[in-house]
Amino acid sequence: MLNPSQQEFSHLGSPRDLRARPLRDLRISILDRCNFRCSYCMPKESLCGKHSFLPADELLSDEEIERIVRAFTSVGATKIRLTGGEPLLRPGLPALVKRIAAISGVHDLSMTTNGVLLPRLAVDLADAGLDRITISLDSLDESVFSLMTGGKASARQVLEGIAAAEAAGFQQLKINCVVKRGTNDHTVMDMVRHFRGSGHVLRLIEYLDVGNSNDWQKGQVVAGHEWLRRIHHHWPLKPLKYQQIGETAQRYAFEDGEGEIGLINSITQPFCGYCSRARVTADGLLYTCLFASQGTALKPLLGKADGNTDLEALIHKTWSNRDDRYSETRHLVPGRDKGQEMYRMGG
Ligand code: SF4
Repeated sequence: MLNPSQQEFSHLGSPRDLRARPLRDLRISILDRCNFRCSYCMPKESLCGKHSFLPADELLSDEEIERIVRAFTSVGATKIRLTGGEPLLRPGLPALVKRIAAISGVHDLSMTTNGVLLPRLAVDLADAGLDRITISLDSLDESVFSLMTGGKASARQVLEGIAAAEAAGFQQLKINCVVKRGTNDHTVMDMVRHFRGSGHVLRLIEYLDVGNSNDWQKGQVVAGHEWLRRIHHHWPLKPLKYQQIGETAQRYAFEDGEGEIGLINSITQPFCGYCSRARVTADGLLYTCLFASQGTALKPLLGKADGNTDLEALIHKTWSNRDDRYSETRHLVPGRDKGQEMYRMGG
């Protein structure tokens, strides 16, 4: 039985944007603070290390996040990813996960984390209904890891987080590794060797020019096809089909059956053509692209007591007017303002 708002929008169906892309994924940042200072997201040296974080009273409350997720599912989104900053730092996180997991329209609830707090939280998150976890790990070499993440924790702690997630029952974890030429690219093959046959999927991510503080240079990007060639040389690979629309990773299986690997090539092989992701920041701004500079405020509608009708209408309208394809056009307008920082957008 469709709920009233779904009836109201059912004749509209999931909105399609101006490029006929459906709204299917919501990435919601539940906190902008982080216990890392990754050089590609929140570099310690930019802004002299003093990043301006949102005051607690500007953060979305659990109720507000639940209402936003309900509104998005009523408009057609089915996949919800909780991001940050570092989402595990949010107080009372398992209770929030439980609220969201209970929403009927949520078919897949996942989270992206740096993993170091998982030994404390993994079991509670699994019990609360979290389906999947993606863990960021940029190198197994401690000194390189420290260079990439700002030296606030160790790769060993992230590996302990991965073990805690496994013990809590999470399977086929996705391990995200951002590759920066000249910083961690020389340790990538060790990562491939380590995760082969582990049951987890290592994904190599081309370094992105998100935000305005990571001093991104095109020369620091290692193209995904370079890894394809290098890895295939050691361990033959065969391409795998996309599992669903909007998938960002190109997937390859090891021919010897030792699992798979993913390449996320947003710079050299943009995937805007089927991007079905909306993003909401921790203070309730809706963005239709990771690189968008203009957001739509949802918070003013959260104060309204008349259900979610206006909120759903605003989401539907915003998505229907969407025309973003930054990664396909970044070379056309070099140096333009690239909007919000990664830790605000949630990646
Ligand atoms: S650049 Fe924007 S439109 Fe393109 S894939 Fe990324 S988020 Fe989607």
